[in-house]
Amino acid sequence: MPDAALPQLVLSPTNSPSKSTVVEPDKIICPICEDLVDEELLQTFSKGLKMDVARQAKFCRLHKKKSAEQIWEAKGYPNIEWSELKGRIERHHDHIKSLIAGKASETHFGSLLMEKIKSGQNRTLLKTDDYLSPGYYGLRGMSLMTETIVEMFSALLRKRAPQDKLISARGYSGFVQAVLVPELAVMLIQEDMSLSAEKARGVMQDSRAVGE
Ligand SMILES: [Zn+2]
Repeated sequence: MPDAALPQLVLSPTNSPSKSTVVEPDKIICPICEDLVDEELLQTFSKGLKMDVARQAKFCRLHKKKSAEQIWEAKGYPNIEWSELKGRIERHHDHIKSLIAGKASETHFGSLLMEKIKSGQNRTLLKTDDYLSPGYYGLRGMSLMTETIVEMFSALLRKRAPQDKLISARGYSGFVQAVLVPELAVMLIQEDMSLSAEKARGVMQDSRAVGE
């Protein structure tokens, strides 16, 4: 929030503080996040009335959700069947087990973590960057993946940690978050969209913003 005064909606394109030079005619700038938003969406929401900050914040959430849905559709991301996700994760049991048993260092996210460990980056604390969001599976997917992996493998993870620096460097939950969850998410995205691992990693990266 810029200052104590209520931020005013910028309805006229001419006095736009936006970084873009031209505001499209039927767009306005969201007073909260300064994204360009359909004016019609705002008019429908505000019913032409002036909005206080709470209303503006609500509007901001609404337009973000709407644009996420549009992106979701346009990009061809699948509908997530949440009730089936746990079962799908469990079907990757053997593969995840092999990662914990030593194959993790050969994976994409395993090597990334290994490089960070070797370079001595943030030895103990995980940065937010390290919590690799599983793309359109979002936080909800991340929780379920983490939970299910820990349920299946906490004993094995504890056993392997003293033998494997990759697992022990940030504690085994750090390893789960930084390696196993993103590797699993890539496999799920591959299944969803019939993609190569590399393409699925791209989708995972691109779709971070739209996940629940
Ligand atoms: Zn906004």
